[in-house]
Amino acid sequence: MTQRIRDFLRNRRDTGRDEAPCLVVDLEVVRDNYLTFAKTLPDTRVFYAVKANPAPEVLSLLASLGSCFDTASIPEIEMVLATGCAPDRISFGNTIKKERDVARAYALGVRLFAVDCKAEVEKVARSAPGSRVFCRILSDCVGAEWPLSRKFGCEPSMAADVLEHAHKLGLEAHGVSFHVGSQQRNTNAWDRALAQAAAVFRECGERGINLAMVNLGGGFPTKYLKNVPTVKSYGSAIFRALRRHFGNRIPETIIEPGRGMVGNAGVIESEVVLISKKSEEDDVRWVYLDIGKFGGLAETMDESIRYPIRTPRDGDAMAPCVLAGPTCDSADVLYEKQPYPLPVSLEIGDRLLIEGTGAYTATYSAVAFNGFSPLQTFHI
Ligand SMILES: *Cc1c(COP(=O)(O)O)cnc(C)c1O
Repeated sequence: MTQRIRDFLRNRRDTGRDEAPCLVVDLEVVRDNYLTFAKTLPDTRVFYAVKANPAPEVLSLLASLGSCFDTASIPEIEMVLATGCAPDRISFGNTIKKERDVARAYALGVRLFAVDCKAEVEKVARSAPGSRVFCRILSDCVGAEWPLSRKFGCEPSMAADVLEHAHKLGLEAHGVSFHVGSQQRNTNAWDRALAQAAAVFRECGERGINLAMVNLGGGFPTKYLKNVPTVKSYGSAIFRALRRHFGNRIPETIIEPGRGMVGNAGVIESEVVLISKKSEEDDVRWVYLDIGKFGGLAETMDESIRYPIRTPRDGDAMAPCVLAGPTCDSADVLYEKQPYPLPVSLEIGDRLLIEGTGAYTATYSAVAFNGFSPLQTFHI
């Protein structure tokens, strides 16, 4: 929570145009985050993962600071190009692309593509001839609060075959990528992945293909309720792992921070709609907010991400509550397995501040489920 966000919300209230819920993102925080990544990992290029927050203000700011961009679709590529950013700063990092979209990206000037199997290599070879490809390998994601499934990447033992196939079809077999899992709180998570990446480099080398790049992915955390290590400690852990597995031949590297770039820059203001109990004897209150899973807080799925929540009555005695959203879908419950402590004095109409909501919120909000509007956003 920054003073700028506090002032913005106060001014908005003073003018009476303060319908909750809304997300406010402080661009100064995004700027600081970018500069911290750039300073801490000086030999690494930053490809911001656009999906975390694709607001034009965020993209323009990062483009002006010199960031590159990791995209997953043609609209994301177009949003980045709309900032004036050149296509050679864009990676089409989704391993699942329609061949038509590969061709469109190529026509827009994009020359860097992710693959994780031979069928995808063939699409890129046909529709984006001569481009660079990197092969994504699976990661176990141990230590991540938002782990990724086996959906993306191949077993490291298959990667050399995929890259050799690309080489034979006239593509530039450029490197290896992985993602250690989002909200990765263990700085050593990159070590195992880099050991596997180095093995792919060796295997390709033996086949006469010299890879150049390791894409270290995202995973850099935002502080929610628990503390997280600094970017600096991630930087030194990654550097040590690169040395350990690549010796003196450290490859070109890129990172793709999403959450770590924008998460802590955003705050959602929400209103308490109802406080009730399921029986007179019940000691757990149900607190219903005007935002839930369908309004932008999708990452509370399985209660994975626990956001810090501030109330106007924070000094008062606290008691655990079930926290839920306003829609008529029974899945729209935020925290129930592990109830959330809130002040006993909390009242209907109180405004709550949900912190750390700059990433993976606004674009997750439904277009009109139950008639609720998409989350209003302000980038200041
Ligand atoms: C989503 C995504 C990221 C960003 O991940 P964070 O954990 O938010 O940093 C990076 N790379 C790829 C390929 C992604 O899909």
